Amino acid sequence: MVRAGLQAHVAGRVIARVDVLHPRAIRRHALGPEDFTGRLAGARIEAARRRGKYLWLELSDKEALLAHLGMSGQMLVQPEGEPDEKHLRVRVRFTDGGPELRFVDQRTFGGFALSDLVDADGELLPSTIAHIGRDPMDPQFDPKQAVRALRSRRTEVKRALLDQTLVSGVGNIYADEALWRAKLHWSRLTEKLTNAQGTLLLESAADVMAEALKAGGTSFDALYVNVNGQSGYFERSLNVYGQADRPCPRCGTPIRREPFMNRSSYFCPRCQPRPRRK
Ligand SMILES: [Zn+2]
Repeated sequence: MVRAGLQAHVAGRVIARVDVLHPRAIRRHALGPEDFTGRLAGARIEAARRRGKYLWLELSDKEALLAHLGMSGQMLVQPEGEPDEKHLRVRVRFTDGGPELRFVDQRTFGGFALSDLVDADGELLPSTIAHIGRDPMDPQFDPKQAVRALRSRRTEVKRALLDQTLVSGVGNIYADEALWRAKLHWSRLTEKLTNAQGTLLLESAADVMAEALKAGGTSFDALYVNVNGQSGYFERSLNVYGQADRPCPRCGTPIRREPFMNRSSYFCPRCQPRPRRK
């Protein structure tokens, strides 16, 4: 959603100047604020791109402006002269004098960094994220290859889903929802999954992501590129995540919560039975 908004509003435009209003927002840019603003002035934004949870603006000269939205980051497109938002961290002005791009982040966990673009996996990717896998919604995502890679791991299936190198874009919430749809317990071992189970799991992840995108798209506004992707989907469409003790929408059994990597896993104990170990 954020990528689509940026593509519509800033692609094809030339940056006039960038103001960094809080140094923390560009802490990931090791060369500092002067290097950051100096390199961006005069750069043309070719396209807004995304891989998994990573978002970047492709610039001329094989550079990329990587954006991290963190927990609370927002990209806003605002007419010049509009009052500054309280937590405005970075402002990008364009040579055409049109609406400016603003990065607003209350907690400033997010921010920007410049990265080189490198040839990887048949496309140009920021060097810092070149190891990240395609996400299941990517038209070039190869499900057969991904299922093979999944089954060659020696780990629990949810860990493999969250790892981002095999498939990307699947976080804790999407993983639990996809596992529920595929009727797999989170601790199933990847090497014991059948081809059909692996395929169904990745298809389920793609479906969950597509539905979240669709639900979020309904609140899209021309001047408001969007918040951090956490749309109404989270209230309306979750089958298991955050639903402990509520009935499974498929079988009515109470959903169970278990601790998982300092977070939680939610699952239906009947639809997603725990694997038996020898
Ligand atoms: Zn169930």
